Amino acid sequence: MEIYRFIFNRLEENTFVVEGLCGSALIVDPGCESPAEQQRLKSFLEAKGLKPAAILLTHGHMDHTYGVAFLQRLYSCPVYMHDDDKSVIAYFQRVAKFGIPVADPSFTTTPVADGQIVEAAGLSFKVISTPGHSPGSVCYLFEEQRAIFTGDTLFAGAIGRSDLFGGDYDSEIRAIMEKLMMLDGDIAVYPGHGGSSSIADERVGNPFLEPFNEKEELYDQN
Ligand SMILES: [Zn+2]
Ligand SMILES: [Zn+2]
Repeated sequence: MEIYRFIFNRLEENTFVVEGLCGSALIVDPGCESPAEQQRLKSFLEAKGLKPAAILLTHGHMDHTYGVAFLQRLYSCPVYMHDDDKSVIAYFQRVAKFGIPVADPSFTTTPVADGQIVEAAGLSFKVISTPGHSPGSVCYLFEEQRAIFTGDTLFAGAIGRSDLFGGDYDSEIRAIMEKLMMLDGDIAVYPGHGGSSSIADERVGNPFLEPFNEKEELYDQN
């Protein structure tokens, strides 16, 4: 499974293009904000002969959703998101923070739920609900391809902030420890910001998770 990364908007958000079967693709968190960024993504897809079959949102923050309306208009594809982040999108529409432009909200979402298996672009992936960074944060696990998209819940060496609207630190830690750190160590982690990692590396080396690990588990490379 070929995965391409773009870094978009002033928050340096990772947008991933996942190549599926027969010229189809999935777009994870399209953060392309400016017309130039949107054009760059569109040109890339055209050059590769890829047509998006679905957009996967790990959550509703604007740095992850700037390009959603643009892409859905262009490709008429479903946008998967947990319903609990609809309130987040509505909130940030009302409160333009830090002078950061709001995302175009004119897109429709298809709700996903914890444990749901979704088929799109000839690929199959599982939704893992990980509330905390935002109430509707989810991760998308591609078990067969050994990859997980963690949005702003889990980063290489860090975890997402939980002080924004609807965030909750305890829920976030619990979700990471109980649902992500239990996964096989060889699964590659693709976060919403920064470089990629693996479940094993985060289990051993993520300083934000260390207090919650049993000592033995720190050395369990799986
Ligand atoms: Zn976020
Ligand atoms: Zn973000």
